[in-house]
Amino acid sequence: MEIKVVKFGGSSLADANQFKKVKEIVTAEESRRYVVASAPGKRSDDDIKVTDLLYKCFELAIAKKDISEVFDKIVERYNGIIKDLDLDLSLEEELETIRAGIIHRASRDYVASRGEYLNAIIMANYLGYDFIDAESCIFFKEDGSLDTEKTNKVLSDILLEHQRAVFPGFYGCTNEGTIKTFSRGGSDITGSIVARAIHADIYENWTDVSGMLMADPRIVKNPKTIEVITYGELRELSYMGASVMHEDAIFPVKVANIPINIKNTNAPSDPGTMIVPATSISAPNIITGIAGKKGFSIINIEKDMMNAEIGFGRKVLEVLENHNVCFEHLPSGIDTMSVVISTDELRNTKYEMVAEIAKVVNADRVTVEEGIALVAVVGRSMEKAKGTACRLFTSIASKDINIKMIDQGSSERNIIIGVDEHDYQDAINAIYSEFVK
Ligand code: ASP
Repeated sequence: MEIKVVKFGGSSLADANQFKKVKEIVTAEESRRYVVASAPGKRSDDDIKVTDLLYKCFELAIAKKDISEVFDKIVERYNGIIKDLDLDLSLEEELETIRAGIIHRASRDYVASRGEYLNAIIMANYLGYDFIDAESCIFFKEDGSLDTEKTNKVLSDILLEHQRAVFPGFYGCTNEGTIKTFSRGGSDITGSIVARAIHADIYENWTDVSGMLMADPRIVKNPKTIEVITYGELRELSYMGASVMHEDAIFPVKVANIPINIKNTNAPSDPGTMIVPATSISAPNIITGIAGKKGFSIINIEKDMMNAEIGFGRKVLEVLENHNVCFEHLPSGIDTMSVVISTDELRNTKYEMVAEIAKVVNADRVTVEEGIALVAVVGRSMEKAKGTACRLFTSIASKDINIKMIDQGSSERNIIIGVDEHDYQDAINAIYSEFVK
């Protein structure tokens, strides 16, 4: 029988009404056997997520202030959901334990994790599924990273004993037995871990949008939804700022070749976006998506006969390494080399680094240009498609925009350009109109 792991984000579980939608979705297909729950999210724009309320309580307790007002809001949220769903369930004891824990300085991660913990208990009760505490099956190593193999082994064994279950997302346990959370939005990772452990056919990630958009809707008006995207493409777009789920959620399902389907709890019949290991289906528009970020700088290094000098690149990169600075791109000419770096990374070390670079390679000139935006145009269909770069650059030129940097990997899966930050939005719109019909 097909197995689906379904993860619901905070907005899908914000109140009883959303819980009802989730139950309809889960029960609509026999295969939706394992559910991962986030904490209740915002019910409206000016609402506060339960996770944020919990962090607030933690901060108040540290400052030795009264947590009652904020904690009572949390109690109200959960009791409201239980009452509106008419459940025969009381979380009073759990809530009192958590309240006492916060007052007696429980760890920040423990406090934050309780949002998912309580919501998953409610969801398990509502669906009639087993509750499995993530504390018993998701493990972190001493260095804070996920203990992938131990988690997969223990979780696979536990799953064999449960036909249908609900897991709280966002947290696990260290080898010393203390609760540890992923970074924000980490329930996406929990879903992916569970999907891998049960060898799911698909990991459905239910949120409040009908999939991933081809461009940022704050820049492009009504961008189209991406129907199918590969893990590789998604990685490139997420790295450049496009976000639809937690970046690290890809890795557990990627090793197991499990596709992810991004779906909308509020419009369940929309197909959403399929994220797949590879596909022979070409994207309808040559490009799959466009993403970008402002806030980059370019260090330009000039030196006559640079190209003949062995070790030149190593010396430059060693300076970066010594300053613990990572670079994004490294376009070079015959006697010039440019290093593209996030301006934030350079903030404290710019002058020192420039002086060091100039010294170690005995450069003729080193200059730094700030205010650069990078735009990544990503698409598996670009490979071997003639004229793509021509169309891209013509569209930019037609808007009178100057391109300061070009980078295309030989995978031909992406072309990245650097433009002045003032031209950022126009560049993205120009590219979108050229490629998306
Ligand atoms: N509730 C956590 C957060 O707000 C984790 C999650 O929703 O994935 O970040």
